[in-house]
Amino acid sequence: MRIDDALVWAEYTLVNSDSARLDAQVLLAFVLGKETIYLMTWPERDLSEQQKAQFEALIEKRVNGHPVAHLTGEREFWSLPLKVNNSTLIPRPDTEVLVEQALSEIQSHFTGQTSILDLGTGTGAVILALATELPMAKCVGVDYSHDAVQLATENRDSLGVNNVSILQSNWFEGVTGKFDVIVSNPPYIDPTDKHLKQGDVRFEPLSALVANEHGLADIRHISEQAKQYLVEGGCLLFEHGSDQGLAVREILQDNAFVDIRTIKDYSQNDRVTLG
Ligand code: GLN
Repeated sequence: MRIDDALVWAEYTLVNSDSARLDAQVLLAFVLGKETIYLMTWPERDLSEQQKAQFEALIEKRVNGHPVAHLTGEREFWSLPLKVNNSTLIPRPDTEVLVEQALSEIQSHFTGQTSILDLGTGTGAVILALATELPMAKCVGVDYSHDAVQLATENRDSLGVNNVSILQSNWFEGVTGKFDVIVSNPPYIDPTDKHLKQGDVRFEPLSALVANEHGLADIRHISEQAKQYLVEGGCLLFEHGSDQGLAVREILQDNAFVDIRTIKDYSQNDRVTLG
């Protein structure tokens, strides 16, 4: 089977995925050990029997809903190749807004060596992105899950980032000291949300997705504790659901934060609130 024919077959087979073409390209490039551009450059190249069988097996898993990132074991975030597995959330493009905002706050309000804490680091995506942008910063990422800590540590080491410590901690429980900036992409989906029964999210851990109080319990808990771990004038930034901007601003207000604002993501939905 030729590359172009394999892609046509896979796109047709993945008719129920809203990213069928991209999924097919990423998975075939993965099988061939090449970049996706190779597929456009050599469409007439034949797959070996083994490559064809491997591609068919991956497409079948994708048809059954498995996220592409779980099938390849990798997802790019902030141009960093990150290993992913089913112990954490798969990094989302919208979470880059959290990184951008944290960087912009740091550039406008902090000088010298900045200290940054990431709560619920998962793959390490957010803290590794910040640490590579700010090589002088002192960065800490924590996660409750032992498997997530292991994955984030692996990602840190394979990227060769040397200004990040990764610790196991239930939010602030194992954290000591004060930070200039605290970032978090905590679980924020309401446990009854229908979204949890559809698509890739079914293969991600509920502990990374779901929080009580209509998804706000962890955001509230972190906001209540954060003052003890922030320097005077420090900044707390959350990612949250598109309909939670007002509620998160109120939570920050209740906890005496000032200069509170919400920033939209690339789809013009409320996504990040800071104070
Ligand atoms: N934005 C993710 C989703 O809708 C949820 C991320 C999270 O709960 N932190 O699938």
